[in-house]
Amino acid sequence: PKKDKSVARLDDAKLIGVTVDKNLDFPGWYQQILTKGEMMDYYDVSGCYILRPASYAIWERIQEYFDKKIKRLGVQNAYFPMFVSSKVLEKEKDHIEGFAPEVAWVTRAGSSELEEPIAIRPTSETVMYPYYAKWIRSHRDLPLKLNQWNSVVRWEFKHPQPFLRTREFLWQEGHTAHLTFEEANKEVLQILDYYVGIYEELLAVPVVKGKKTENEKFAGGLFTTTCEGYIPTTGRGIQGATSHCLGQNFSKMFNISVENPDGADKPKLFAWQNSWGLSTRVIGVMVMVHSDNKGLVIPPRVSQYQVIVIPVGITSKTTKEEEQKILATCNKIEGKLRQNDLRVTSDYRTNYSPGWKFSNAELKGIPLRIEVGPRDLQKNTVVAVRRDDFTKTTISLDTFEKEISDLLETMQAEMLARARAKFDSHRIIIDKWEDFVPALNRKNVLLSPWCGDADCEDDIKDSSAKKDDDDDEEEDEKAPSMGAKSLCIPFEQPELKAGQKCVKCDRPAIHYCMFGRSY
Ligand code: AMP
Repeated sequence: PKKDKSVARLDDAKLIGVTVDKNLDFPGWYQQILTKGEMMDYYDVSGCYILRPASYAIWERIQEYFDKKIKRLGVQNAYFPMFVSSKVLEKEKDHIEGFAPEVAWVTRAGSSELEEPIAIRPTSETVMYPYYAKWIRSHRDLPLKLNQWNSVVRWEFKHPQPFLRTREFLWQEGHTAHLTFEEANKEVLQILDYYVGIYEELLAVPVVKGKKTENEKFAGGLFTTTCEGYIPTTGRGIQGATSHCLGQNFSKMFNISVENPDGADKPKLFAWQNSWGLSTRVIGVMVMVHSDNKGLVIPPRVSQYQVIVIPVGITSKTTKEEEQKILATCNKIEGKLRQNDLRVTSDYRTNYSPGWKFSNAELKGIPLRIEVGPRDLQKNTVVAVRRDDFTKTTISLDTFEKEISDLLETMQAEMLARARAKFDSHRIIIDKWEDFVPALNRKNVLLSPWCGDADCEDDIKDSSAKKDDDDDEEEDEKAPSMGAKSLCIPFEQPELKAGQKCVKCDRPAIHYCMFGRSY
């Protein structure tokens, strides 16, 4: 394959195209590609956004993938109300403390004030668990595994960002109750692997698996596992999805208990619970990682359309017969690909030039463009152009079905490989504090030996918040000067040297922790 020269744009394309450079104004760029690429639109309630079909289709692919996997584990879908009374919401103290600042309340119906304000779920532990207590009577009722595909509301005050941090977001939340810790623990890790699968297999975004620190774990839970992503342009980490082991904390609060199977004289057993959630944030991460100055770049496995067919080379000199043949070939390609379950669209409009259509398809991130023109048809070929790297391949009409699906798979694999290479080269081991902030400023996330102490973690955050004056040359003007958070304690650990000290304090290190500026 060779590079496509037609990438040099026609002037009219500029009007619809992206006018902001990803490297110069990342937030402006993100906003433009999402709106111009027709993924989302702004709404007149701040922090809320409209998911247009192109992004909802991605969510549907994710749902399909994940729903199938959890059903194989015996999880069933259900739906609970979005409203929760304050009495129930406030039942678990640590939990409500974690969420209270972001809870939205309904205080009025029509013109009358409600006697008791009603909260809108920020997550559904407290909504669901009173019913778990009611439904789980004997150890034979365990495990209970429910999931819901719903939306939750968190009235975030941090700067909202489409997909990444919104006040209402779509997600799935799984809530399970088990007889033993072992069973719960196994499931937490299994779900985390499915989340990694969504990122890596579907979205071509590499992530690092690990455990959250005590400071960063889910409010009221026992421990939180997470997969953490990385946005190369800003050098910031992002929490990908979380799978929590809640331990017996909630089951004790809500009295989710069963008779001891070893005998009625033995103490009753409280259920071991998990909750796990993945939100539409994943779409934002995917967009930030792959897209470019021409618009969206979407991996073929999740893209609403994988292929667009565009007739080319039709001029005033083209005979009616030739034109008919081109359109007939376009139709044939569309039909065959659709029969093979590929998602295909086309652009036969006569009031737009092929160049304009190319730009438009690039803006929307359609993975593969098939150009059908008179000269190629004489050779029984068509041209396929990849959206991610613009490589152009001539393919035979005798074998196009296989060649196109191979090209899509290659593109999917190469997108992941490229993103992984970037993440790998920006995840570096830093042992000395003096290297810590300069390395952050060079857009890295850091693996550092750490003592595990919560105060030390806060100290790292505070001490890395200022820009390092010695490192001005490396400093990108827009680089955030926020402090570095602990992202996770990766499951895959570099080996600690004997006597290794914490990167920040004098205590001995107990493991490597991944730190980074984050979203
Ligand atoms: P949590 O219940 O806080 O563990 O959140 C579950 C997942 O939802 C997180 O891993 C995030 O990826 C995602 N998430 C949390 N808050 C938001 C938000 N405001 N907007 C979009 N996604 C979110």
